[in-house]
Amino acid sequence: MNQSCIFCRIINKEIPSKFIAENEYCIVINDIAPRAPIHYLIIPKKHIANLHAAEPSDAQLLGQVLLMAQEVAQTLPEPKAFQLVFNNGQQAGQSVFHLHAHLISGKFFSGL
Ligand code: 5GP
Ligand code: ZN
Repeated sequence: MNQSCIFCRIINKEIPSKFIAENEYCIVINDIAPRAPIHYLIIPKKHIANLHAAEPSDAQLLGQVLLMAQEVAQTLPEPKAFQLVFNNGQQAGQSVFHLHAHLISGKFFSGL
């Protein structure tokens, strides 16, 4: 838990937020500024700044982020197509330094 981290405060329910899904490892919330018809954030409960800061001992947690993406993707409308984006570093667009995956769907994104 990092008191100055907005995602830690959401995980801790200090900031009320609707959880789309939750398990022992992660939560899923709607992005406050969606860039697609469906834009979820999959956030591990452990504070890790980004992939640069992840360690081999986080392997299970990182796998759980992908499995949570698979779980919420089952609720998407057909054809259930989605992208998963991890921004790592400010120059790559990261603005919240608590690791998270953007699950975006419902809009066609060409290229990467
Ligand atoms: P990043 O830019 O770090 O990859 O993604 C951070 C995302 O968190 C942004 O898309 C931003 O809109 C979202 N965000 C920032 N603050 C909040 C918040 O308080 N609640 C929610 N639901 N999303 C937030
Ligand atoms: Zn955090």
